[in-house]
Amino acid sequence: MTEPIETTKLYIGGAWVEPHSTEVLEVFSPATGEKVGSVPLADEQDVDAAVRAARASFDAGVWRNTPPAQRAAVIRRAAELINERGADIGALVSAEMGATPGDVATLQQLAGTGVLNAYADAAEAYEWEEKRTGIFGETLVVREPVGVVGAIIAWNVPLFLFCNKFGPALAAGCSIVLKPAPETPLNANLLAELFTEAGVPEGVISIVPGGIETGQALVNHPDIDKITFTGSTRAGRAIAATCGDQLKRCSLELGGKSAAIVLDDADIAASAPMLVFSGILNSGQACVAQTRVLVPRSKHDEVVDAMVTVASTFTPGLPTDPETKVGPIINSRQHEKVTGYIAKGKKEGATAVLEVPAPEIGTGNFVGPTIFTGVTNDMTIAREEIFGPVISVIAYDDVDEAIAIANDSDYGLAGSVWTADVAKGVEIAKQIRTGTMGINWYAIDPSSPFGGYKKSGIGRENGREGLESYLEHKAILMPMGYTS
Ligand code: NAD
Repeated sequence: MTEPIETTKLYIGGAWVEPHSTEVLEVFSPATGEKVGSVPLADEQDVDAAVRAARASFDAGVWRNTPPAQRAAVIRRAAELINERGADIGALVSAEMGATPGDVATLQQLAGTGVLNAYADAAEAYEWEEKRTGIFGETLVVREPVGVVGAIIAWNVPLFLFCNKFGPALAAGCSIVLKPAPETPLNANLLAELFTEAGVPEGVISIVPGGIETGQALVNHPDIDKITFTGSTRAGRAIAATCGDQLKRCSLELGGKSAAIVLDDADIAASAPMLVFSGILNSGQACVAQTRVLVPRSKHDEVVDAMVTVASTFTPGLPTDPETKVGPIINSRQHEKVTGYIAKGKKEGATAVLEVPAPEIGTGNFVGPTIFTGVTNDMTIAREEIFGPVISVIAYDDVDEAIAIANDSDYGLAGSVWTADVAKGVEIAKQIRTGTMGINWYAIDPSSPFGGYKKSGIGRENGREGLESYLEHKAILMPMGYTS
């Protein structure tokens, strides 16, 4: 990034408009502290303008009446445009949230365009109308877009999260107003413009940058039919309470504390790189991070040695440095939280067998990969989401105990089993109360449901289930004796 991007207008209804608000949201690099840019901070009136544009476009039917195959084509075109401008978008996202451009390209751009294309596929394959025969004869079941969607997202993978809100909402035929995280508003404006360029009509899409108050104005707005939220369990609870009170549809993608279960037949050398990566990807700032690694006591030292060897090579540094494998933590508050958890882990009796030193550069918001052993599942570092590059290794004696430890968590978002016996891995995966599992690796499949059990969320994204989360199902009873 060279010059800061100073934006003075809001992207409302697919066009740049003067904001009502006079407040400005400034964005600074979490790595260097340099200014990345600024946007107007949308206030309640700005949110209202965006929701009114969305409502009017929805009621007029400009997008919801566009045939699903045509909506799918626009979404696919948006994915193409994101890939065409991948280098610029990647640099901006990297400047805003600190991941290396390489990590943005894989964890966000590839994953984001992957979900867009998968939602386009799902919209084309979906049975929008279905004839059923019941006790009264024929009923026509039709699926309709839920209406005007308010989307609120976190900063940790903003490009991916943006695609995972715009993709299903637009595939379903909804209009959408998205509030990016205050740390990462600039890329949201850029991405929204690409969707307009791809063919989304006027009024359908808006971006309202801001913090909690802007988010609350969106959640509270009476013309919003559904809120889709990705962020912390704490904020999700508050948002769900408002939605409950107003009987708004609401889906929540929240935090995690996932377990990787290593079985005694696992190929340790082959598993170690992915085990480490799954725990500390995105500087550990990942909802699906597998931060509890459960290892059989008999293989404990072997697994730990292999993981320490790999994690030692994950060099923290500036995202622009080609040697960097671990970027900064998003801000000093989060940095303090992560280092506080490391201190707490030691205080509660765990041993830090690896603490890669953090470089004293830029903002200083760096934390080197840290691996704890001697962790028990009741320790704070095993129970709470740290959101930094910190892995806790927990020893177990038999598989039943490993399953019990994995399930002994408030969260249930992701997880994995590492074994030479895939069938056994699947059997164990079925016993874990969590939304996604991997066998010998972990990834999010754009075509399959993704979401949380327990306090990790409500609802599912991705694939047909993700599309259905933005639909209402209507039954139209045909006259008695009628056959079509
Ligand atoms: P956060 O909850 O503090 O903020 C997320 C978003 O919600 C931001 O845009 C914020 O401005 C807004 N917000 C916060 N409180 C609000 C309120 N009361 N009303 C309306 N809007 C509000 O979370 P964060 O620190 O930005 O993100 C990290 C969290 O997100 C972690 O817990 C992580 O696990 C979770 N996350 C989950 C997923 C998933 O798919 N399950 C994906 C990414 C991140």
